[in-house]
Amino acid sequence: MRLFKKCEDMEKILISACLLGQPVRYDGKSLKQQNTLLDTWTKQNRVVSFCPEVAGGLSTPREAAEIIAIDVSTSHSQAIDGTAVLKAVAHVKTSNEQDVSAEFIKGAQLALKQCQQHNIQFALLSARSPSCGNEKIYDGSFKGQLIDGQGVTAALLSQHGIKVFNQFQLEALAEAIDK
Ligand code: SF4
Repeated sequence: MRLFKKCEDMEKILISACLLGQPVRYDGKSLKQQNTLLDTWTKQNRVVSFCPEVAGGLSTPREAAEIIAIDVSTSHSQAIDGTAVLKAVAHVKTSNEQDVSAEFIKGAQLALKQCQQHNIQFALLSARSPSCGNEKIYDGSFKGQLIDGQGVTAALLSQHGIKVFNQFQLEALAEAIDK
């Protein structure tokens, strides 16, 4: 029974570094969450903190980036999200037109490697990010419009069976872990 597991036997959870208070967001800020579940998991040494964009080689602060179709006609036939970036039918571009797809993909691959090294089955990633968003991302217009879809890291982790939650789904994550 999970309650009686020793800390070292408890599953680890990959968590977006910005949610843990690290100032790694594009704007140089964090998105620190005050939450007792996070405090408990940290005390239990279950947290693996990770920022895919920094791990992929991007600096902080950096230009905001969004996912955009490479060929506009593609956007009518499939979702333009992290999965599309991994299939090379979309790219990640900054607001000043720099293509940062390679860094985003490298960060996603390194996140997956972390999960595999620690046998991680659950991730808590930051909502709406072009890397970490698990349900919604911005639509590529840089106008704050959201669409359904995952960021690049969330998509790659999901493809490998890792269940991805965001900071508004902490209770659901706790329930899933305790099943
Ligand atoms: S949302 Fe993900 S990629 Fe963006 S700063 Fe947080 S951890 Fe890094």
